[in-house]
Amino acid sequence: MKTELLIGSGNLKKAEELALLLEGLPWKVLSLRDMPALPEPEETGSSFAENALLKAKYYGDAFNLPCIADDSGLSVDALQGAPGVHSARYAGPDATDEENNIKLLQALSDCVWHERSARFVCCAVFYEPGGESHMEEGEIHGHISVAPYGCEGFGYDPLFVPAGEERCFAEMSLEEKQKISHRGQAFEKMRAFLEQRS
Ligand code: IMP
Repeated sequence: MKTELLIGSGNLKKAEELALLLEGLPWKVLSLRDMPALPEPEETGSSFAENALLKAKYYGDAFNLPCIADDSGLSVDALQGAPGVHSARYAGPDATDEENNIKLLQALSDCVWHERSARFVCCAVFYEPGGESHMEEGEIHGHISVAPYGCEGFGYDPLFVPAGEERCFAEMSLEEKQKISHRGQAFEKMRAFLEQRS
């Protein structure tokens, strides 16, 4: 019988991406939709790694299941790494993706293309209650466009143009994005760990 593995993310779009990235593994993958409702944990960590571990532990301990969580965000060079761990809440505690994107475009309004470099970072954590945790990371470099394009994905996808690409993430299919994305890279390594661990 396959062991259960919970995806600890309250962000439905992200949970969907993670489910796809974990497809075909010898684990029975569950999402928070399969569990009784629980308030989301406060992301009080000062790094992606701290927040990813915090989320994996929170959901793993709450449901007594092995749990995978990730923390990710956008780091813009001209903004000294902001929005970073505050990516989801850049324009305020309940900010929408659109509000965050507008704030970012305004913050970079004086910057020309070569000054608009940025990277997405993803830190993925596997946590087993009473056991060990395991962490993998991925990142992708690129630029912030001067206006939003495309309608796929979530978050800053309409503004992020990966290095060497003409299109931003929101103009790519999920499969195209995951081949190169920060999350795709972190979870490729995590898959290898999970294959061994099953
Ligand atoms: P988290 O859910 O705490 O990891 O917050 C991550 C935030 O970073 C998201 O709400 C987005 O604003 C941003 N982000 C992370 N990964 C991506 C991505 O793949 N595309 C677009 N935005 C992302």
